[in-house]
Amino acid sequence: MAYADKIREAYRKELADIRTAGLFKEERFIHSPQAAEITVEFPSGAPQQAVINLCANNYLGLSSHPEVIRAAHEGLDSRGYGMSSVRFICGTQEIHKELERKLANFLRLDDAILYAACFDANGGVFEPFILTDQDVIIADRLVHASLVDGIRLSKALQESYKHNDMKHLERKLEEFQDKRIRLIVTDGVFSMDGDVAPLDVICALAEKYDAMVLLDDSHATGFMGRTGRGTHEMRGVLGKIDLITTTLGKGLGGASGGCVSGRAELVELCRQRARPYLFSNAIPPVVVAAANKVLELVSSTTERRDKLERNTLYWRKALTEAGLDIKAGESPIVPVMLYNAKLSQDVARDLYKEGIYVVGFFFPVVPKGAARIRTQLSASHETAHLDKAAAAFKKVGEKYGILGLKKDQIIAKFGA
Ligand SMILES: *Cc1c(COP(=O)(O)O)cnc(C)c1O
Repeated sequence: MAYADKIREAYRKELADIRTAGLFKEERFIHSPQAAEITVEFPSGAPQQAVINLCANNYLGLSSHPEVIRAAHEGLDSRGYGMSSVRFICGTQEIHKELERKLANFLRLDDAILYAACFDANGGVFEPFILTDQDVIIADRLVHASLVDGIRLSKALQESYKHNDMKHLERKLEEFQDKRIRLIVTDGVFSMDGDVAPLDVICALAEKYDAMVLLDDSHATGFMGRTGRGTHEMRGVLGKIDLITTTLGKGLGGASGGCVSGRAELVELCRQRARPYLFSNAIPPVVVAAANKVLELVSSTTERRDKLERNTLYWRKALTEAGLDIKAGESPIVPVMLYNAKLSQDVARDLYKEGIYVVGFFFPVVPKGAARIRTQLSASHETAHLDKAAAAFKKVGEKYGILGLKKDQIIAKFGA
């Protein structure tokens, strides 16, 4: 057999193994704009159907907001479609600078720098100023994959602490007091559990042990905290974080783009040295113009984040009263715990038949025995959506006999 054929056969086998393990990811088609109600098609069979969407990162309901769409049109018409350049050659319009200023203002930091995605922001945020093995990066064990990759690219020592375990973090900080730079890295809201990092404690430890703090607030910017600035506002540490990375792809309109915001020197060093900034195209004017409108909206009123908060409380209460086992928390990420992988898939499928679109997560996305359906709230949900969805959860929960059951009882019944 020719070499190329042999290699392809090996890869085909790997793909077959992924399928056999039940881990093959299939994309569904969304036939409508992103919203509380969408039309979905499963390419492998299920026909198009209108469903209530409980799995988007459309926290503020801005993905298809008329004012945002209008601003995008204006950006496209007045500034053209593509920049055809990286920022420092001929890819910077003043609307890019305006957006960087607005992001920094909103996050209450000195400056900000845009990237094509937060994945790129995180990929390039360590290398510019964490230079040698005289430096150490100490990251929460559950930080986002893009932070993991970014950390790998730096030449610093790479350490981690147990998820949200402040005693463990303190031990690590003590252990590395001889280093030049200590950088603590955490997500603000963790995507699978929806739990919030104890940033007040983290900042106090950073002060006590001379460390910097980097926060990835992708699942929080625009809605966590009283005026939606993020988990640093929520935990009372505005102005105390050295670097915040976040995305335009979730609460802030959901298109694409990311940023690093932080103290002036750090952001300037990123502009000089961050490879995803220097070697990748500028974000298109259509997105920048729309994002400028989004920042205006979230800076001028807390209406949407307030509604999201009300929806979240309403939803948590409704599911709890229905007898489902949800993870307690403060964010609009509300995991319904099922523990068993197959059960999570069965329940998601049955909910879909009831017109509720949710996704079941299981190993390796979450730990073994911690399968769940992750629901996500949006300011675009109305009470009627949530009532209908809660009724569907109750009906399907009844079918599987899990209502009112605690973790051990569900595991006893279905296995983990
Ligand atoms: C979604 C997410 C990212 C990636 O953001 P993109 O802009 O989509 O690349 C990075 N970090 C965290 C914590 C995220 O949730």
